[in-house]
Amino acid sequence: MESRTGLRERGTGLVFIFSAPSGAGKTTLIRKVMAELPGLRFSVSFTTRPPRAGEEEGKDYHFVSPPFFMEMVRKGEFLEWAEVLGNYYGTRLPDLDQLQLEGKDLILDIDIQGARRVLKQMGHAIAIFILPPSPEALRERLVGRRLDSPEVIERRLANAKKEIEEAHRYHYVIVNERLEEAAAALKAVIVAERCRKEKESIYAMKMKEWEVYDGQNHG
Ligand code: ADP
Ligand code: 5GP
Repeated sequence: MESRTGLRERGTGLVFIFSAPSGAGKTTLIRKVMAELPGLRFSVSFTTRPPRAGEEEGKDYHFVSPPFFMEMVRKGEFLEWAEVLGNYYGTRLPDLDQLQLEGKDLILDIDIQGARRVLKQMGHAIAIFILPPSPEALRERLVGRRLDSPEVIERRLANAKKEIEEAHRYHYVIVNERLEEAAAALKAVIVAERCRKEKESIYAMKMKEWEVYDGQNHG
């Protein structure tokens, strides 16, 4: 049964930024949290990198050519965009506006450069950094994922330290050691932020109920 306020069931127009060094388990966590907590929408970015096995156009990314991407940059279509390990990635502004109109809570999976820009432009955004439990565990996950060559894995590990240095700027830092625990922490953050956002409107609604109650004769 949906509660009177429905905070757990629907979104409230919040924007959540998720960053992590590649291989920390961000995609796995986002998928799990979205499957378990209603009211969330994933902001599908544009990228010039080729799709990986199992990735779908329009679901994971919009896969475009570098000239197409640069034309979008020229037209000012991106809220933010950045180069990450030789490929371009960007968040298209009209897509965000449309998703926010639906009243859902948005999830932006973006790197540290994008997070800095979005936080500057959207002061209300909530930034969450996902950490791997250790450098060794990150290496194991990157190897175990079987998506990258050994050279790319070394570049990702070298990049990871730089990214982790930024974690203190985020509102929340969650260590993805055990998936279940990390997912529970993430859901708790989202539900808590929904409660904070709705505080004033719930208060106003409840005060009205008490005023009506007081105006009735209960003798
Ligand atoms: P990212 O999106 O951060 O690059 P992925 O979600 O692709 O990372 O996860 C990288 C690899 O680590 C995947 O093979 C995934 O199954 C695995 N993984 C994710 N979370 C955990 C966890 N808590 N414990 C062990 N392995 C994990
Ligand atoms: P991957 O190629 O592994 O999917 O993503 C590489 C990095 O690009 C990740 O850190 C991911 O968060 C980031 N990224 C994905 N989409 C965007 C985006 O729209 N903007 C920015 N700035 N980074 C993005």
